Amino acid sequence: MRANYGYTDGSGEWYITIDTNKCDGCRACEEVCPEGCFAIEVDDYDDEVAMVTEDQRKKIKYSCGPCKPVGKEHVEPCHEACPHGAIEHSW
Ligand code: SF4
Ligand code: SF4
Repeated sequence: MRANYGYTDGSGEWYITIDTNKCDGCRACEEVCPEGCFAIEVDDYDDEVAMVTEDQRKKIKYSCGPCKPVGKEHVEPCHEACPHGAIEHSW
């Protein structure tokens, strides 16, 4: 399942997507994110998966702005940290 967290406003789409089929709850994203965007929860199948915290869902544009790639070399820390490529952003 792909879980989308975020919102659309006049300046664009600001979403973090977590592929819960790929996520194994390793917590690497939680540890690396400077804004505390991630937490681990137990899903309906009793698996531990990452989610975006309630607080951060309303301000992804601002929280993730400093991590936004400028050149091709730069990758968001959470994308780089995730061993399963489970995290995407809508930009
Ligand atoms: S882009 Fe940066 S601030 Fe946003 S979730 Fe990833 S590590 Fe956290
Ligand atoms: S780093 Fe990837 S696999 Fe690990 S908890 Fe985060 S989303 Fe899941």
